Amino acid sequence: MNDSTYDVAVVGAGVFGAWTAYQLQRSGKRVVLLDAYGPGHSRSSSGDESRIIRMGYGADEIYTRSARRSLLLWQELFARIDEPLFHQTGVLWLAHENDPYPVKTAATLDQLGIPFEKLTTSQVAQRYPQIRVEGISWALLEPDSGVLSARRAVQALVTEAIRIGVEYLQEAVNGTAAPPVNEQDARATKPQLHHITTSSGRRISAGSYVFACGPWLPKIFPELLADRIHPTRQEVFYFGAPTRDGEFSAPALPTWVDFKDEAYGLPDTEGRGVKIAIDRHGPPFDPDSGNRVATNEGLAEVRRYLARRLPALKDAPVTDARVCQYENTSNGDFLIDLHPEFTNVWLVGGGSGHGFKHGPVVGEYVAARIEGSNEGIEPRFSLASKAREQKRAVF
Ligand SMILES: Cc1cc2nc3c(=O)[nH]c(=O)nc-3n(C[C@H](O)[C@H](O)[C@H](O)COP(=O)(O)OP(=O)(O)OC[C@H]3O[C@@H](n4cnc5c(N)ncnc54)[C@H](O)[C@@H]3O)c2cc1C
Repeated sequence: MNDSTYDVAVVGAGVFGAWTAYQLQRSGKRVVLLDAYGPGHSRSSSGDESRIIRMGYGADEIYTRSARRSLLLWQELFARIDEPLFHQTGVLWLAHENDPYPVKTAATLDQLGIPFEKLTTSQVAQRYPQIRVEGISWALLEPDSGVLSARRAVQALVTEAIRIGVEYLQEAVNGTAAPPVNEQDARATKPQLHHITTSSGRRISAGSYVFACGPWLPKIFPELLADRIHPTRQEVFYFGAPTRDGEFSAPALPTWVDFKDEAYGLPDTEGRGVKIAIDRHGPPFDPDSGNRVATNEGLAEVRRYLARRLPALKDAPVTDARVCQYENTSNGDFLIDLHPEFTNVWLVGGGSGHGFKHGPVVGEYVAARIEGSNEGIEPRFSLASKAREQKRAVF
C-alpha cells in the first residue's frame, strides 16, 4: 500500500476545496487535493457554466463583506493566470412593493460603501427595454458585480494550485463513518484522524483533513450530516437569444434577481445563451445517481416567467438545460467547523445555492483556522447552529 504524508489533505476539488488547498499551499503547507470525479465536473455543485457574484445579501453583512473580498481575490487570481473568467455584467435587483430584502440590501451596501444605484421603474424600462417592469416598484443596480465562469474558474484554479505545488489526485476517498485513529489518540477524549484511504488503496496521512465534499458530505458522514445537509434538485435553462445587436448580452442586459418571484437570470455570456432558473428548493437529490434530464414542467414554468418578464424570449429555443443540486443547511448559512469527534478534521460545505462566489474567502478562513488562528469559529458557520428543520433565511 502506498503511504504519503502531508500537512493537509483536502478532499473535494469544488470551489470550496480548491480555494482551501490553494490558500494553504500559498501559506507554505504541503497539500494534497483529491477529487473523485475531477475539478468542476458536471455532477459537482461548482460544475455549471456560470455563477452570479453579487454583494447584496439583505441585512446579512457577513456575506456582503465576504462577497466583496472574494470578488477582489477572484480578480487577482484571473489577472495572475491571465484568464478573463469574470464578466462585469452588473446585477439588477427587481424590487416588488413592500419587499424588505432589497431595502435592507441597499442599507447594508450603503453602510459598507459599496457602490449601487437606485432606479425607478421608468429608468429600468428606459435602460433595459427587454425587461418588462410589471409588478416592480423600483430596482437596485450593483454595477461592479457580475458573473463568474464557474466550471472553468475551478479548473483554472486547480491548475494554478498544482503549479505552485499542490499535489492533485483524481481518486475517491473512502467513507469515514468509522475513521481510523491511532491507539494513543484513541485513549484521549478527542482523537485525531490518522489517515484516509482512497479507492485505489492509497493511504494518505496528514496533520489536518478538510472534507469539502459539497452535496456528498451527508454520504460521507451520515450520522452527523444526513439530516443537516439536504441536497435538492435544481433545474437551469439556457435560451438562444435573437441576434439583435447583443440586446441580451451585457452591458445591454445585466444579470438580474427577481427575488419575490424566486427567479433569476444571466445575460448571454460566452455564447451559452441567456440563463434562467427558479430559486426554489426542489426535491431531494442524489449527486451521484440523480436524473439530470430537465423536466417539461420545469421548462414550462421558466417559459411562463419569461413571458411575464422578458417576453421577447418566451419562445426562444433552449440551447442547454442542466440539473444541479443545492446542498442546503437548515437556514442557508455555511457549515465550516471541526468534526466534533476529531481535533484535526474540518467539515466545509453547505453552500446552499449561494456559496460559489465566496470560495476565496472560505479558503482563506479555513486556511487561517488550520494555521492556528485564535479567532475561533464564526457561530453562524458552526455545526451546533445547524438545525434539522429546513427554514431558509439566507439567499
Ligand atoms: C443551480 C445552481 C445555481 C447556483 N447559483 C449560484 C450563484 O449564482 N452564485 C453563487 O455564489 N452560488 C451559486 N450556487 C451555489 C454554488 O454553486 C455552490 O454553493 C458551490 O459550488 C458548492 O461548492 P462545493 O465546493 O462545496 O461543492 P462541489 O462543487 O459539489 O464540490 C465537492 C467535490 O467533492 C468531491 N467529492 C465528494 N465526495 C468525495 C470523495 N469521497 N472523495 C473525493 N472527492 C469527493 C466531488 O466530486 C466534488 O467535486 C448555485 C448552485 C446551483 C446548484
